[in-house]
Amino acid sequence: PQRSLVLVKPDGVARGLTGEILRRIEAKGYRLVALELRVATRELLEEHYAEHAGKPFFEPLVEFMSSGPVVAAVIEGHQVIPGFRSLAGATDPTAAAPGTIRGDLGRDWGLRVAQNLVHGSDAPESAAREIALWFPGL
Ligand code: ATP
Repeated sequence: PQRSLVLVKPDGVARGLTGEILRRIEAKGYRLVALELRVATRELLEEHYAEHAGKPFFEPLVEFMSSGPVVAAVIEGHQVIPGFRSLAGATDPTAAAPGTIRGDLGRDWGLRVAQNLVHGSDAPESAAREIALWFPGL
């Protein structure tokens, strides 16, 4: 079955939403295969977000993502990559549909980088790359 890397971003952990987010993933029927709370290094995040290097929100994004602990998870299930992206909702929490994680729990705080609670891999190739990066032993 397919696997995806999910991150509960520092805003989600700080707001105490980790349980609620994992609850939605498990309630949907996806299986947790790895789970860890950790503070990500700049090096890891620059690698993780390499495709955004040079964009105006890159520096604020790396800063935000290293500002506190994240919960990193690998989840598994048939079509879990698009499935989790549906659960997460649109990148902009103002536009994200109610019923989604970002639509129900997120909002725009007027900051330089969108704080949108979660990350999910966007394709099988990026999932493989991200899982190797965050969970080299897996
Ligand atoms: P993620 O990769 O975190 O699941 P995504 O695929 O919806 O989200 P990306 O385009 O990969 O979004 O951007 C990565 C992250 O950078 C976003 O989740 C958001 O936190 C931030 N971001 C993206 N675009 C913008 C923007 N235009 N302005 C501010 N922040 C942004």
